[in-house]
Amino acid sequence: MVKAIASSEEMPSAMHKMIDPDMALRLVVEAAERLEPVEVELGHSVGLVLAQQVAADRDYPPFNRAMMDGYAVRLSAAGGAVAVIGELAAGGVWERPLTDGQALEIMTGAPCPEGTEAVAPKEVVDRQGETVRLPESLKQGQNIAPRASACPAGRVLIDQGEPITPLTVGVLATVGRAQLRVYPRPRVGIVSTGGELIGVDETPGPGQIRNSNGPMIAAYACAMGLEAPRVVEAADTPEALATALERVAAAEIVVLNGGVSAGKYDLVPQALTAFGAELVFHKVTQKPGKPLLFARRGRQLFFGLPGNPLSASFGFHRYVAAAIRKMSGRRPQPEGGKGRLTDGFRVKGDRTVFQPARVEAGATGWRVAIQRNIDSADIFNIHHANAMVRLDPPVEECLAGAEVGFEWMSL
Ligand code: AMP
Ligand code: MG
Repeated sequence: MVKAIASSEEMPSAMHKMIDPDMALRLVVEAAERLEPVEVELGHSVGLVLAQQVAADRDYPPFNRAMMDGYAVRLSAAGGAVAVIGELAAGGVWERPLTDGQALEIMTGAPCPEGTEAVAPKEVVDRQGETVRLPESLKQGQNIAPRASACPAGRVLIDQGEPITPLTVGVLATVGRAQLRVYPRPRVGIVSTGGELIGVDETPGPGQIRNSNGPMIAAYACAMGLEAPRVVEAADTPEALATALERVAAAEIVVLNGGVSAGKYDLVPQALTAFGAELVFHKVTQKPGKPLLFARRGRQLFFGLPGNPLSASFGFHRYVAAAIRKMSGRRPQPEGGKGRLTDGFRVKGDRTVFQPARVEAGATGWRVAIQRNIDSADIFNIHHANAMVRLDPPVEECLAGAEVGFEWMSL
């Protein structure tokens, strides 16, 4: 599919030419294939997507259920005093039908015996020894949830493709699904490249910086419910990159960061080719993250995110997250929207600009507060962003109050 597009008239060569951010996202989503379903225990299913349909195994309620603690009675008993014939707690069954002149003390959740026409709540009756006086007015079906009124046996409750929420787990538990077929989540491996990188717990020497992208990308994956990814560091040499790629080779998605630009030590493209991956695209007309690279080896996907932290962050939540969603059977990211700028904002250049912003609901629609960073390395001033404002060229200046489009940074 990707090859067909890459060689079509519309896009002569995605591999050699810069492509726009929409085409890039399309190529990623097309290349990402939904994983084969697996069986999981109900207790491990939340956040996954159901790969089967689930129907009600029996009627719900399964019997005419008392909805209050009180007395199961016939309507003929209204206003009179009747004999209490016994007591029934939830979980029990009263085998004999109820007849006129009788009342059965009954608890919430218990099955009403045959012949019950109403449950008179405990609070409205007057119990004296073995008789109970009932109120003047009783209504047919009062405080009884009829069998099958919520859902008849066989009705489809949850469709294939639906995400499993805690409420869904409640439904699945009710209908007895201890095991489920779901789409698994892909495993992610991370390779941070760069001779300047040291660990978070180390003290940087001159020229060194801490590897912040590794933990950030791992955190993105965890925030999407994925198993904590393996993070491997590699110096900028073909050998180190080859070794690092081997170490994460079991992952369905490998996210490299750094080493994809045009520098002398940017060896990720060659390392991926040597590893047997086929480049799908390299370089996107976007800011941040122009050097973004995407490659595949069979069903395994490789993302080369630029090393600048904002570019790496953006590359993950716009492109890698889309692939993860598709592979795990989830729906695409929610659409963005349009809102009004709280302050003016200037952009230059011929690339699509994605600018971090804080988007909040206002009285007349979304209010968009631009978060100003000094460059693509600056995540210090934008980490309250929840959206990316999208500005396509040739926009130069947006005044306060101007309407702009944005994409959510949701996962
Ligand atoms: P590169 O994409 O390798 O050219 O790196 C671009 C910039 O991002 C450089 O200033 C790098 O030092 C920085 N950078 C690269 N990798 C990381 C990382 N893992 N964490 C933080 N900064 C990084
Ligand atoms: Mg580098």
